[in-house]
Amino acid sequence: MASSEVTRRAALLRTQIADYDYWYYVKDLPRVPDAEYDKLFRELQALEAQYPELLTSDSPTQRVGGKPLDMFQPVRHAIPMLSIRTETDISDQGAITFDARVRRELDLNENDPPIEYICELKFDGLAINLRYEQGRLVQAATRGDGETGEDVTQNVRTIHQIPLSLEGMCPNILEVRGEVYMARPDFERYNERQRELGLPTLVNPRNGAAGSIRQLDPALAARRPLKFFAYGLGEKVEGWDWRKTHKEVLKQLDAWGFPVNDECRVVQGAQGLVEFHRRIEAMRDRLPFDIDGVVYKVNSIALQERLGFVSREPRWAVAHKFPAEEQLTVVRDIEIQV
Ligand code: NAD
Repeated sequence: MASSEVTRRAALLRTQIADYDYWYYVKDLPRVPDAEYDKLFRELQALEAQYPELLTSDSPTQRVGGKPLDMFQPVRHAIPMLSIRTETDISDQGAITFDARVRRELDLNENDPPIEYICELKFDGLAINLRYEQGRLVQAATRGDGETGEDVTQNVRTIHQIPLSLEGMCPNILEVRGEVYMARPDFERYNERQRELGLPTLVNPRNGAAGSIRQLDPALAARRPLKFFAYGLGEKVEGWDWRKTHKEVLKQLDAWGFPVNDECRVVQGAQGLVEFHRRIEAMRDRLPFDIDGVVYKVNSIALQERLGFVSREPRWAVAHKFPAEEQLTVVRDIEIQV
């Protein structure tokens, strides 16, 4: 039974996190560094795990992203756009814990071979679902609260890297998921020009990407230098039996003309995850775009299906951050520039 002090602490955390979520997801303006946010989020998760009676249905731990803005048409996702669990331990142990959990959930023991994973970068932008019908882009939607996003098709059409029609054979209905982002050099050039013109600058590349996609004038969006990485599928693609591994999905996305980041690697077992994490951490500052960690996914689609989901997260994927992210800066008390 939770003491009144613990109950009060959980209530305070819920309110505080909900407020940070609003500023981050709705306004695209973080009030605190991610590391600080993650610490509070994990504290609330731990309290709820220890005292299940404290878990309320409106707890931020049970939600994905933020409320869609009213100014856009709502889009109900055919398949929810979920969150990814963040591994609490940012050291190598985070990868080892994830692998151990997956093996346990699949009932494997030490004599079974290592699990094959695909490791990707966790791009720090805005998640988008692109819907193609008969090979043509018909709709682009934000993640929103996971169930319902915002129709941002007009703005997304201005991103040159997103194909408006697909090359080669493709299913009648195809949903592609990925991240819209602003590359660092583009962000700096854009701000430099804005300063020269005496116009407002963007706060950071993530704010630049999210703010550009979620604003009403497509002409303004077209002036912002946005890019895209595809990393998965939305609505199930019927009759396409190439979909045995996530790696094959990425290859097919590449063949259709979507940008797929080439740092992704297929690795074996926990050791492979650890090596990927270390390699990306060492090169992270040299990447031309921001990442907020790496993502590990079980490569086999059949195993992904066996593992399934728990509340708002798949059991077959995890985000693993880097210690240096504690240093991230955050701008407080600024105007919203959209
Ligand atoms: P998430 O942790 O729920 O992860 C899912 C998201 O990851 C997807 O929607 C997608 O946008 C993104 N992603 C990037 N690369 C991907 C890849 N290769 N494969 C799959 N997905 C990929 O995502 P979130 O809600 O964007 O972020 C949660 C994090 O945001 C928190 O851990 C926290 O650090 C940060 N946050 C910060 C504040 C703040 O105030 N600073 C507030 C809210 C959230």
